[in-house]
Amino acid sequence: MREATLLVVEDEPQMLRFLRASLTSHGYRVLEATTAEEGMRLATLHQPDAILTDLGLPDMDGLELTKRLREWSDRPIIVISARGQEEDKVKALDAGADDYLTKPFGTGELMARIRVALRHSQRGNQTQEPIFELGRWRVDLAKREVRVDGAEIHLTPNEYKLLTTLIHHAGKVLTHHLLLKEVWGTSAGAQPHYLRVYMAQLRQKLEEDSARPKHLITEPGVGYRLRLE
Ligand code: CA
Repeated sequence: MREATLLVVEDEPQMLRFLRASLTSHGYRVLEATTAEEGMRLATLHQPDAILTDLGLPDMDGLELTKRLREWSDRPIIVISARGQEEDKVKALDAGADDYLTKPFGTGELMARIRVALRHSQRGNQTQEPIFELGRWRVDLAKREVRVDGAEIHLTPNEYKLLTTLIHHAGKVLTHHLLLKEVWGTSAGAQPHYLRVYMAQLRQKLEEDSARPKHLITEPGVGYRLRLE
């Protein structure tokens, strides 16, 4: 496979150096921009495989950049935000970003997020594999059958829908808004606390220790993620 090209839009020199060093040492080709305008120009010119953008840019909000990129590009966008910007993360995800990283983060986390983003983008519109396996779990999406250590687990229709929505976006953070829409639809008048209740039930049924889940992860103030590693 050819090396993937990543566009990094970041105005902090130190962060930019860290990203450049980490990404190139893992074999990615890196394009750099320190303003949103330059980022937009490079994105149009080179059509990178994925885009990482800071939220606080000198000329434009990273949120606005995400919205503008989404008008014509379906490449994965990972937003880089400072701590305590939960609301901005949610807005960025709802505006079409695929994931976010909270500063400070290490190389391991950065690479894991990029792998997930590129995997989703390379799969494109192909149909998903009918069998999803993760640790002790085996989910047969064709038969609608869920097994943990080989034993069949009964899920209610909403629990199953929640699980399959997470599987479909495995590794990515999903906002409360998106999950409510996917599982209950827009007209159901579903409330965020439904999610807490159903997620607790899913953890009880699928996790070894529901108080310390390995895969069904809460992203505080944002939503949930099915963690793969
Ligand atoms: Ca910044």
